[in-house]
Amino acid sequence: MTDDPERFDAGDPDQAVVDDPEQFDPDSIGSEGPPVAEKPYKILFEANKCIGTGRCAEASDNWELDITTGIAAPVSYFIGEDELAENVDAAELCPAKKGDGVIHVIDRRTGEEVAPDPAGDGSISVDW
Ligand code: SF4
Repeated sequence: MTDDPERFDAGDPDQAVVDDPEQFDPDSIGSEGPPVAEKPYKILFEANKCIGTGRCAEASDNWELDITTGIAAPVSYFIGEDELAENVDAAELCPAKKGDGVIHVIDRRTGEEVAPDPAGDGSISVDW
């Protein structure tokens, strides 16, 4: 939730912008990528809220912690079925944002959040 009306908050369903697919289409974020059939999932990452615990890197080879910056980053933002489980583990283990996590695994076919999905309804829990 944000007090700044100019600030987009994808995690706030009360903000009208979320209801406007022209303004917030999850699949438009990182739409440049390999064919969906090859890599049906993508990562949305709130790097500015990473607290550098390294849990993601322990869980998945797709995640690396930069020891100079103290911030993690994915090796790839687009992942296939064979990489899904480890990235879901990383998303669910991430303790940032009071346990809600800053790694988001999105199904590109539906636009729904596979993990961590704190609301339990597939809504994207990003709040940049
Ligand atoms: S688990 Fe989350 S907070 Fe910890 S390094 Fe990875 S992304 Fe950052």
